[in-house]
Amino acid sequence: GSASRDRLRIAIQKSGRLAEPARSLLAACGLSWRESRDRLFCYGESLPVDLLLVRDDDIPGLIADGVCDLGIVGRNELDEQAAGRARIGLAPAYRELRGLGFGQCRLMLAVPEDWDWQGPRQLQGLRIATSYPAILAAWLERQGIQAQVVELSGSVEIAPRLGTADLICDLVSSGATLRANQLKPVETLLESEAVLAGPAQGFDDARAGLAQMLLRRMDGVLQLKD
Ligand code: ATP
Ligand code: ZN
Repeated sequence: GSASRDRLRIAIQKSGRLAEPARSLLAACGLSWRESRDRLFCYGESLPVDLLLVRDDDIPGLIADGVCDLGIVGRNELDEQAAGRARIGLAPAYRELRGLGFGQCRLMLAVPEDWDWQGPRQLQGLRIATSYPAILAAWLERQGIQAQVVELSGSVEIAPRLGTADLICDLVSSGATLRANQLKPVETLLESEAVLAGPAQGFDDARAGLAQMLLRRMDGVLQLKD
């Protein structure tokens, strides 16, 4: 739980694919900030809404711990950490409030190009490299397949060539990285985009009204975009 506060704190990615579009969206909602010296914390000027600039991986945990009130993060990251919490018996700590229409990608299984893909049953007993072990394990369980999940934090796409896995489960947008590694996508586990995430339980202080106003403005901005 988080202590009572009268300012809203939003976590966004410091640098990377979601950093610029997240800031633009919040700016379009009428927020502005005083540039900070450390560039990790941006104090809100137009409204009592501050930014924390962090690694995307840290955003679900910051919301779970009540350090931040809202976050803009990929659904892939949010769902992975939720699935990870569920596996160790922890209650859901956050929820997706809005899909934001940028950062689209898919979490997919990809196999060597020369495989003749006949469906998930083919995966029985194989080794799958991924940075999304909890989502993959839950999917395998639903499919009734026993396979070995090889957790890698990066460069997942070279695992089949290195011989450390038979296939991979990774984020795909254009498919160029897969092609460059002689892999082809065969199954989609998750359709992802950037989302606005908030705590599973709402706020009971001034933050409730601020969050409500921000969501209303965001809905207006998102509507104008499509
Ligand atoms: P950080 O330093 O914050 O940990 P990162 O390297 O984990 O950065 P990015 O590569 O910037 O993260 O990706 C952030 C998010 O962008 C991903 O979690 C995903 O939701 C989205 N995304 C969209 N397309 C792709 C893609 N082709 N590959 C990876 N992520 C993508
Ligand atoms: Zn990351």
